[in-house]
Amino acid sequence: MTDRHDTPGPDGGPLDRRAELAANLATVEERIASACAAAGRDRDEVTLIVVTKTYPASDVRLLHELGVRNVAENRDQDAAPKAAACADLDLSWHFVGQLQTNKVRSVAGYADVVQSIDRMRLVTALSTAAVRAGRELGCLIQVALDADAGARGERGGVAPDGIEQLAAAVESAPGLRLGGLMTVAPLAGPYAGRQRAAFERLLEFSSGLRVGHPAANMVSAGMSADLEEAVAAGATHVRVGTAVLGVRPRLG
Ligand SMILES: *Cc1c(COP(=O)(O)O)cnc(C)c1O
Repeated sequence: MTDRHDTPGPDGGPLDRRAELAANLATVEERIASACAAAGRDRDEVTLIVVTKTYPASDVRLLHELGVRNVAENRDQDAAPKAAACADLDLSWHFVGQLQTNKVRSVAGYADVVQSIDRMRLVTALSTAAVRAGRELGCLIQVALDADAGARGERGGVAPDGIEQLAAAVESAPGLRLGGLMTVAPLAGPYAGRQRAAFERLLEFSSGLRVGHPAANMVSAGMSADLEEAVAAGATHVRVGTAVLGVRPRLG
């Protein structure tokens, strides 16, 4: 983390940062609204999730003041203290990173939605942790569009042929609620550079899923660089980091 984020405004407060976040949010909002209009969709069909990973709790607080109600993190080590520091705010916390089973108990304490369900072992562990914490966790199956049948993706996610088994497991697991599907556009393979096609494929899998699980209607796709393609394809949730908070000071 650079000290850029802690630089005080002219009056010694975080005013500059607030103005910066407000301007970035307005730009992203305009992009989402235009993409919805172009696709003939209502603006309220798409929820913005701001990915706050690597940025401090003070930014989460400013975002909340600016009207953001959904935030996402990808590492429990960073997310747990941040969520604790913002526990007084009415925020939904989404966990979007690869999740080790030894972090599940911590994540179940603050996450409202875990978007990266990609194996049976995780379903079992999350269910146990959710019940123990007395919480209900929304769960999205992360789909690796470029993974071979029976395999998982390099950046997490289950191959499409594994969606239904995981969905059934989530649906019957105490403490878990099946929310839908999530994907990250593949960097390699047949979908590399073809975000629109990738997201349309995800929407096909979502239609298939909803035949047996009608309530599982969340489709989380699209980031700073490709949110328009995701909205065009029918995503219900976009996950935007860089375009709101700036280029991350370190990999995350
Ligand atoms: C970091 C991250 C995002 C946001 O990416 P940006 O390009 O910064 O908008 C979205 N989804 C996941 C899973 C991420 O890890």
